[in-house]
Amino acid sequence: MDKNRRNFLKVAGISTLAGLGGTAVVDRLVAGSSLAHASAAAGPKVDQTEGSKGHGEQKSLSGNRYGMVIDIKKFQQDPSLGEKIVSACHSTHNVPQFPEKKDEIKWIWMTHFENAFPQNSNLYRDAANQKHQLPILCNHCDQPPCVRACPTKATFKNKDGIIMMDYHRCIGCRFCMAACPYGSRSFNWRDPEKFVQNANHVYPRRMRGVVEKCNFCDERVGEGKQPACVEACGESKAIVFGNLNDPNSEIRKMLNENHTIQRNPALGTLPSVFYIV
Ligand code: SF4
Ligand code: SF4
Ligand code: SF4
Repeated sequence: MDKNRRNFLKVAGISTLAGLGGTAVVDRLVAGSSLAHASAAAGPKVDQTEGSKGHGEQKSLSGNRYGMVIDIKKFQQDPSLGEKIVSACHSTHNVPQFPEKKDEIKWIWMTHFENAFPQNSNLYRDAANQKHQLPILCNHCDQPPCVRACPTKATFKNKDGIIMMDYHRCIGCRFCMAACPYGSRSFNWRDPEKFVQNANHVYPRRMRGVVEKCNFCDERVGEGKQPACVEACGESKAIVFGNLNDPNSEIRKMLNENHTIQRNPALGTLPSVFYIV
């Protein structure tokens, strides 16, 4: 083992990786570490306060913390909303449609209540929850284990509290996928290029070997627009998006007026996605 490689393993505290993933993984991490160093100056700003605060008024660099409220009952009343939001998100973000399930890439998808909330489910679920599905996506956790697991800072919390991906920094180690308790991340096992339908040329496409996930439509929010999935819900208010740190925002009003739950809050990840049940 050469000196660079030994030093990297020591610093990253991941010497057991050689046993887990073999030398190829270790070699990629060493390369990734150099890459991260080389591009650190030009790279994304990481909120260094992440990991140091509890729940409540979390202050990001901008003072914003974006979040989402999803009204499960609205999706039960209009089951067509599910297809609309998935299609809006995936077409906006060039999410590839692979023919085989094992290769599937998902940013937002529909699932049954017991899959999203195993802790809140029971044998005698109400008929609507047995029949209908609800959307799940990245929770943009305020204490994101995926960010802590990433050795290259390819995934990071941005100034608005959104958990982002820098595809050029991603070395495909999938530590973030192992660390995410919600299965919110997908890996490109195959080259996605040929499987993107009606490409959106203003949004970047990915390559084989990188991880991707929902970005809370950071590119749209930056332009003052609503996320594509929110827009696809029309006037229904099935999904409301906004700044959790603004006490006068619509999302805070929704949280104030409705009983909401989060996915597995006991894990301490502090999800920014709330569900009206
Ligand atoms: S849901 Fe998973 S991928 Fe998203 S921020 Fe939380 S831990 Fe990370
Ligand atoms: S696969 Fe995940 S943990 Fe590994 S570099 Fe990419 S974003 Fe980071
Ligand atoms: S917020 Fe944007 S990226 Fe996330 S699921 Fe909705 S449309 Fe997709």
